[in-house]
Amino acid sequence: MVDQSRIDTLRAAPVAARKLLIDGKWQEGEGRPGEVTSPIDGTHLTTLESASSNDVDRAVAAARAAFEDGRWSKQPPAARKRVLHAIADRIQAEAVELAVLGIRDNGTEFGMAINAEPGSAAGTFRYYAEALDKVAGEVAPTPENILGLVHHAPVGVVGAIVPWNFPLMIGAWKLAPALALGNSVVLKPAESASLSLLRLAEICLECGLPEGVFNVVTGPGSETGNAIAHHMDIDVLAFTGSGPTGRRLMEASARSNLKRVYLELGGKSPNIIFPDAPNLAQAAKVSAMGIFRNSGQVCVAASRLLVHADIHDEFVAMVQAEAEALRVGDPLDLNNQVGAVHSETQLAHDLSFMDKAVAEGGEIVTGGKRILEETGGTYMAPTIIAGVERDHNVFQNEVFGPVLAVSRFKTEEEAISLANATDFGLSSAVWTSDLSRAHRCVAGIRAGLVHVNTYGGADNTVPLGGVGQSGNGHDKSMHAFDKYADLKAAWIQL
Ligand code: NAD
Repeated sequence: MVDQSRIDTLRAAPVAARKLLIDGKWQEGEGRPGEVTSPIDGTHLTTLESASSNDVDRAVAAARAAFEDGRWSKQPPAARKRVLHAIADRIQAEAVELAVLGIRDNGTEFGMAINAEPGSAAGTFRYYAEALDKVAGEVAPTPENILGLVHHAPVGVVGAIVPWNFPLMIGAWKLAPALALGNSVVLKPAESASLSLLRLAEICLECGLPEGVFNVVTGPGSETGNAIAHHMDIDVLAFTGSGPTGRRLMEASARSNLKRVYLELGGKSPNIIFPDAPNLAQAAKVSAMGIFRNSGQVCVAASRLLVHADIHDEFVAMVQAEAEALRVGDPLDLNNQVGAVHSETQLAHDLSFMDKAVAEGGEIVTGGKRILEETGGTYMAPTIIAGVERDHNVFQNEVFGPVLAVSRFKTEEEAISLANATDFGLSSAVWTSDLSRAHRCVAGIRAGLVHVNTYGGADNTVPLGGVGQSGNGHDKSMHAFDKYADLKAAWIQL
């Protein structure tokens, strides 16, 4: 059990200015250092170095040298396994410290962060530590006198660019499988939420990951990220973030070395409630948490609620009661269930949806405004907008905030049609007691993930990825290895 006094002690500690990690050394960058502000109370937290394109060059050169000389890539699988397990152990041992550090720059409520950030990152390192020596090649059924072998060769240097929501979890999703296969990595965290990943980099070194194998370059996307995207010596780019940035990365690949680009992007995930849902009260509770936890800043947030007309008013009232009962505030106060919106910019973006939603005919049932402004932090009331039609702005576009758009349907066909009526395809859910309907919805909904009678569960064994404009490729599970390996065939005359 974590008590409040331990959290309060950790939150009071000053955060030292942080440098770039290149070739195992903490170094200054050529760019203008960035200031980090805490969303909890708007105070200045620390300063981060910014990597210029020269700094990125140095990081990539270090990663390449490490890959080529085999200090990690040619270590026996059992040795790599030991290091990854040691990293997982250390993350677990430092879970509270890591969670608090991360919350101070990104604002996620402690109850969620402790599991989703260090908890998930430790599990991810452990999963790929266990998996790395289960990846075997193939012997192809070739003609007589030929031996055809198929190897899974590490790609070399992986670039990873990650967002500010769940940096540790998402960073580990890229880092652990890439390292497990022997690759080197150059990682760029979001400029406003780098602290927990910088600590992870220290942990990796302390646990025996050789210098140069994992490099961290902080700095703005437009400079540091852009240099990674255009780099001629990065083999694979793994990205999580917004659609517009994802498009830029694909263009950058086309303009540079045609590096493989894997995109985990946004969503506008539908959550369909049929009248025969097994337990409407439970569905309402889970639906509320499916959108409001971490102030809706979750890629798979259930941001569109599609409710059958027969239960629409009753069910929306139930979700409204759940929303209004949530305690929003200081994410490091254990009494609170929902923390801060990440930044003033993000809050302004979230609020910008309100007027348009009303102008288009939506009705703000609850929330719709900034709260707790006197704290200096960025907080928004859980918001429900009813009467949303498929052509409305808030139906089509990702808010990435605590905003639930509610639409009504009459038939299963209409529900699936509404579910599929955006450009996204990340997550979804259907609530019903009818097994056949559940299967029809799983088949009919265009998304990387369809929940049935639940929302938001996660496990390393199950891949996460989108279709449509939610991205390509998958994090988690054995499928993540596909991103960080090249298939290499050997054709041997016997
Ligand atoms: P963002 O695209 O603004 O930034 C993500 C990262 O890209 C940051 O590190 C940023 O510095 C960098 N970046 C920005 N511009 C760049 C450029 N021109 N070149 C290279 N790098 C650049 O996204 P965000 O606001 O940090 O994150 C929120 C978005 O991430 C939402 O759309 C959310 O849905 C998505 N997301 C998706 C998943 C998933 O698994 N599908 C998970 C979490 C978040």
